[in-house]
Amino acid sequence: MEIKSVGVLGCGLMGSGIAQVCAAAGYRTVVREIEQNLLDKGLNRINKFLSDGVERGKVTAEAKQRTLANLSGTTTFEDLQACDIVIEAIVENVDQKTAAFAALDATVGDQTVFCSNTSSLCITELAAKTRRPDRFAGLHFFNPVPLMKLVEVIRGLTTSDDTYRTVYAFAQSLGKEPITAPDKPGFIVNRLLVPYLLDAIRSYEHGLGTIEDIDKGMKLGCGYPMGPFALLDFVGLDTTYYIANIMFAEYREPAYAPPPLLKRMVLAGRLGKKSGQGFYKY
Ligand code: NAD
Repeated sequence: MEIKSVGVLGCGLMGSGIAQVCAAAGYRTVVREIEQNLLDKGLNRINKFLSDGVERGKVTAEAKQRTLANLSGTTTFEDLQACDIVIEAIVENVDQKTAAFAALDATVGDQTVFCSNTSSLCITELAAKTRRPDRFAGLHFFNPVPLMKLVEVIRGLTTSDDTYRTVYAFAQSLGKEPITAPDKPGFIVNRLLVPYLLDAIRSYEHGLGTIEDIDKGMKLGCGYPMGPFALLDFVGLDTTYYIANIMFAEYREPAYAPPPLLKRMVLAGRLGKKSGQGFYKY
């Protein structure tokens, strides 16, 4: 099927990036938030990203204008009515995602394809709770979305061949490099990355070294672009905590169990870069 217009649910860290790349690729894009102030915050993030890009010579002023002209924000589901595909990027919580898809299901046309950007929830379960389990797939972007090339395309048990092909081609049309991942918590990348991040926290709890030294060790010793604690702050400690809980619930392996310190940092509101403090202060 042909995709011309895109809906995005959530204009947080990921939703704003997804809306930006869709609009930049020429799709009419509508992004929905729950409140006007959250929507303004997300749209301002997009504006700033593009303006910084223009300043640094990475984006032309014309491309910025074209992207913004393709983009609009809303707080209603009705404004997503005409979208050919809707990508959900709200909080990593199955009840909230199910509720959002139910509201959407009642609003948009039968042909609209639903995608979830979930990092760890079951695509088959989310799909089963809609009226369109065959027109539902996972489309997992990486942070920061405008810069990261990879997208994981996830086929649920009920995802049709046609939906899979449409979503895969759509990811390519955004200038991304898709890979196909199984519908198992963590897909491919987080299945390997999350235990590493949790192990870094556990090792720190056991006195392996300072946060700075562990980060420096992994950066300079392994050639990683950032150390595990800088990455945790960047991803968001709440998001990592949700993912770890979901992975642990499915696999029941200690490697996926969230360490006590991670839980306490989340309870204290130290969520990383987005809240001004995580393992580092911003
Ligand atoms: P975030 O907290 O930055 O943003 C979530 C946004 O969704 C919030 O602004 C919230 O107000 C909004 N929201 C909540 N309910 C909504 C609804 N019903 N309709 C519209 N908006 C709603 O979180 P995030 O980091 O952007 O993560 C979003 C999703 O993307 C999660 O499923 C997460 O697992 C996944 N993800 C995150 C990362 C990452 O690095 N942070 C990477 C890949 C995937």
